[in-house]
Amino acid sequence: MILCSNPTSGYLACKNEIDSAIKRVLESGWYILGGEVKTFEEEFAKYIGVDFGIGVNSGTDAIALALRAVEIGAGDEVITVSHTAVATVAAIEMTGAKAVMVDVEEDYYTLAPSKIEAAITSRTKAIIPVHLYGQPADLDSIFKIAKKHNLRVIEDCAQAHGAVYKNRRVGSFGDMACFSFYPTKNLGAIGDGGMVVTNNAELAERTTMIRQYGWKERYISQFAGLNSRLDELQAAILRVKLAHLDNDNAKRIRIAEMYNKQFGGMDLILPKKRGNCTHVYHLYVVRTKKRDEMLRYLKQKGIGAAIHYPLPVHLQPAYNQGQKLAVTENLSKEILSLPMYPELSDSDVQIIIDAVKGFYNEL
Ligand SMILES: *Cc1c(COP(=O)(O)O)cnc(C)c1O
Repeated sequence: MILCSNPTSGYLACKNEIDSAIKRVLESGWYILGGEVKTFEEEFAKYIGVDFGIGVNSGTDAIALALRAVEIGAGDEVITVSHTAVATVAAIEMTGAKAVMVDVEEDYYTLAPSKIEAAITSRTKAIIPVHLYGQPADLDSIFKIAKKHNLRVIEDCAQAHGAVYKNRRVGSFGDMACFSFYPTKNLGAIGDGGMVVTNNAELAERTTMIRQYGWKERYISQFAGLNSRLDELQAAILRVKLAHLDNDNAKRIRIAEMYNKQFGGMDLILPKKRGNCTHVYHLYVVRTKKRDEMLRYLKQKGIGAAIHYPLPVHLQPAYNQGQKLAVTENLSKEILSLPMYPELSDSDVQIIIDAVKGFYNEL
């Protein structure tokens, strides 16, 4: 069985380093908000190219905390996509704000700038572009609209650690940006974790306070906050993984290139790469009208292809707004994620390619 993603292989690839990081934390006697979290926040912020990082409990919390830091909540609207992990929308709604979902670009599957202005109302406060599958959204166009309407931009970078837009890493553009360290992500913990990053000292301080009960000084809440701390164990593990991130992303890109090369000429729409960007292939997603048949065929061959995501958020019972998003709805019926993780071997990549060829030969 070839898995679609494989966090275990990510652990085994640097087992000794991770085991000793874990031991270091266990023996330190300091398990919550200590040196590992602080150092990881500094290392990760530096990697992204921003001044501040605030480690939190998950990527979902990172988005909710960032929105709260810019004082977005009940009565406000936030524009984002429906074609994303449900977490993006869940995080907006956690704050009491309303998620207004718009369509994506036909080519890149990220927030369509041309669809934003029609969704803006007097209650709109922010735009959350999602750098989906590891591909940067069209940030120049999005920022132009945000400026014109005086809206915040909060980047959802949960699938794009290390992705580059015009020579800068994503996460360094928005008022704030949010990362997830869910185990399968490009930078994955062995448990839950997330981070908010920003260049704004005031927003960084507010986020830090919200993370822990609104405390500036221990035990005294300046405003209502919550507990969304990143723990020392995860931070220590993530420090090990961060040192391998660029190399791991290069391996993902190499696998994507192997797929691209051999899928040329087949009846498959391959991932398109935006110009002046680095796509870090959190997922390698192809598109075909025969998606369901191909998924079944690959499963039979022991290949764990998957769908990200099968039902657009705006059609899910919890968030149904009754609108029609044509590109998103068509996409969701045709997309298929093929196995993608840094440790995927060349021979497994070839097995996957041969299986896809076999599918077309047997049609
Ligand atoms: C994974 C993910 C999140 C949420 O992260 P968690 O750490 O699982 O809470 C948010 N947005 C997107 C696009 C994601 O892929």
